[in-house]
Amino acid sequence: MNIAVIGTGYVGLVTGVCFAEIGNTVTCVDIDERKIAALREGHSPIYEQGIEDLLRQNSARGRLHFTTDMADVAHAAVVFLALPTPPQEDGSADLRAVLTVAEALPDFLGEQFVVVVNKSTVPVGTADEVRQVIMKKRANNVAVVSNPEFLREGIAVRDFMEPDRVVLGVSDERAELVMRELYAPLTDELHPLLVMDERSAELTKYAANAFLATKISFINEVANLAERVGANVEEVARAIGADTRIGARFLQAGIGYGGSCFPKDVLALDRTAQAHDYEFRILRAVLEANQAQQARLVEKVQTHYGDLHGKTFALWGLAFKPDTDDIRESPALKIIDTLIAAGATVRAYDPEAAANVARHFADKHQATLVLVDTPEEALEGAHALLIATEWKVFRNADPQVFAQLQDAVIFDGRNIFEPHVMREAGFTYYSIGRAV
Ligand code: NAD
Repeated sequence: MNIAVIGTGYVGLVTGVCFAEIGNTVTCVDIDERKIAALREGHSPIYEQGIEDLLRQNSARGRLHFTTDMADVAHAAVVFLALPTPPQEDGSADLRAVLTVAEALPDFLGEQFVVVVNKSTVPVGTADEVRQVIMKKRANNVAVVSNPEFLREGIAVRDFMEPDRVVLGVSDERAELVMRELYAPLTDELHPLLVMDERSAELTKYAANAFLATKISFINEVANLAERVGANVEEVARAIGADTRIGARFLQAGIGYGGSCFPKDVLALDRTAQAHDYEFRILRAVLEANQAQQARLVEKVQTHYGDLHGKTFALWGLAFKPDTDDIRESPALKIIDTLIAAGATVRAYDPEAAANVARHFADKHQATLVLVDTPEEALEGAHALLIATEWKVFRNADPQVFAQLQDAVIFDGRNIFEPHVMREAGFTYYSIGRAV
């Protein structure tokens, strides 16, 4: 099938590359000229396992094209919109990118029947809105469907190729047939295609992310209580996770969720509820709990040290989770801001995200934030270490490297070490929810 993907970020690039890999001809469009130039050279602008090989192979086969010119979508039978939907001041999703592209799109489409697919995470009712915008210019031979994306950064290619499920919101029979054909190689009994109306599909995406954010916040609350009552949250999580009704995943206590999805999607769902005169009480609690949790690690630092003036902290991990370079809403950014505001200096290391952090802070913290190239370098001259992301390379660290910490103190926000091992090695070791 000839398809187009508009917006070539984390979702659009994976979508384009994977659909090319299973035999489609794909045109990826973006307004970012530098991104498109890099992609044409075979370089992925994002860090994602396996993406660059697939990008090069499918470009070489002539199945994958990158362009900044919308006119190149003229032959597409399916056009995916994988555009950003960031939060606005009031928390609701900013649909400007989606609606601007939808408005322009009819000018570039061919005569053939075209399915326009909302792959961005968009509030309930957006498929209707996009349809209205498109129909102003083109009333026939076009359908708008909702097809939210559930991929996880870090294992995005695998998630796309072997999805837990594909959700399709559609009310047009012809469009349903086209989408069923497109997804046929990726779906079967174990990887079902779930077809529903557009509004249910749109709500599904928010409900899924809000539920996962709730699960994380729940275990974080248990962790905070565990510290007070002298229990170990890891043991509790293992035991409750063994119950199949609960499930073991997403029960790792830590310093709160971040990333480009959970924070904005929980907020946006809350705003949708408000707009429909419904108070979604659990979401409010999740928002509050996560905000408090993101501050937990620095609170432990402040309790230990009191005054942070003149202190230097090593920080391991900047990405919001391992195996990605994505730093959007990463708890590490707040940790940096708070430590520096309190008078400290930070030496930070991340295997993939340092360049994004340098761009994020630009001229800010010039004298007080040092981004280094190895985990060991971060420790040089530091009084204590903070761990904000559970990269495997940190888990495998030899405790000997911590010997150079001036105060022999470690604040582990991701529980990657065993408390008794660290204590026996002579360190003062703080973690989350493990009083024993
Ligand atoms: P992103 O910021 O990585 O990518 C968006 C891309 O769209 C960028 O490359 C940007 O240059 C491009 N763009 C912006 N305006 C454009 C325009 N007018 N024309 C063409 N291109 C334009 O965002 P993302 O993480 O890929 O997220 C996209 C959507 O998918 C969001 O709604 C997000 O919530 C959702 N989503 C993201 C993930 C994830 O893990 N990142 C997972 C599921 C769903």
